[in-house]
Amino acid sequence: MNAFNGKNVLVLGGSRGIGAAIVRRFRAAAASVTFTYAGSQEAAQGLAAETGARALQANSADRDALIAAVAAQGALDVLVVNAGTLVLGDPLTLDADAVDHMIDVNVRAPYHAAVEAARRMNDEGRIIIIGSVNADRMPFAGGAAYAMTKSAMQGMVRGLARDFGARGITVNSIQPGPTDSDMNPADGPMAATMHSFMAIKRHARAAEIAELAAYIAGPHGAMITGSMQTIDGGFGA
Ligand code: NDP
Repeated sequence: MNAFNGKNVLVLGGSRGIGAAIVRRFRAAAASVTFTYAGSQEAAQGLAAETGARALQANSADRDALIAAVAAQGALDVLVVNAGTLVLGDPLTLDADAVDHMIDVNVRAPYHAAVEAARRMNDEGRIIIIGSVNADRMPFAGGAAYAMTKSAMQGMVRGLARDFGARGITVNSIQPGPTDSDMNPADGPMAATMHSFMAIKRHARAAEIAELAAYIAGPHGAMITGSMQTIDGGFGA
C-alpha cells in the first residue's frame, strides 16, 4: 500500500466528494498530498486531520491564486484537477455570470494549473483532469454549458499530452458518470433519470473514481496519455 511513498501530489478541489476520495486514496498509498478548497473550510480541516494531507485555500476561479498554489508545491509527481462546478438550466434564462464562473473553474483553471505544474514537474509525472461523460453524451436538456466545459477539456488533454510527452509526463481525463457526492447525490431528484441512461443503474462511489486515478498515476499508467478514461456505468454506451 505504499505505492506512492515519497511522491508529491496536489489535488485541486479536494475538500469534498470525488476530490476528497482521491486525497484519501493517495494518502493511503503514502503519498505526500496537498489539496485546495474554496469555501468548505470545515470539511477541508476535517479531511486534513483525518488523512494527514495539507489543506490550502485557493479559489480556482482566481487565476493568480491558483497558479501560486500550484507553483508553491515545487516539483510535483501528480496533479489532479478535480475542482468543478455544475450549472444546469434553460440557456435562455441561465445567469450569464454563473455560466462564466463555471467556465473559469472548469476550463480556464485546469489549463493554467496543468501548464504551471508542468514547468517544474518531475519526469514521468502525471496530470489528471476530472472531466465528465457529459463531454461525450448530454442526454437531457439544460446541460449545454456544463457539457461545453467538459468537452473543452478533451482538446486540452490531447494537446498537452503531446506538449509534455517527451518528458514522460502523461495527461489524461477521467470522465465519471453519475457519482454520489454533494453535487449529485445518489438519492437526489435526478437520480432515477440518470440511472435510466445507464447499463449499471446506480451512482458510482467516489472511491471507485479515486481508484482509477491511482491506476493512471501509478507505474502501470506510463503509456496511458492523451486519453479520456470513462467510468460511467455505461451512461455513454
Ligand atoms: P462536489 O460539489 O461534491 O465537490 C466539489 C469539490 O471541488 C469541492 O471540494 C469544492 O471545494 C471544490 N471546488 C469547487 N469549486 C472550487 C473552486 N472555485 N476552487 C477550488 N475548489 C473548488 O463535486 P463532485 O465531487 O461531484 O465533482 C468533482 C468533479 O467531478 C467536478 O469536476 C465535476 O464536474 C466532476 N464530475 C462529477 C460527477 C458527479 O456525478 N458527481 C459526474 C461527472 C463529473 P469547496 O467546497 O471548498 O468549494
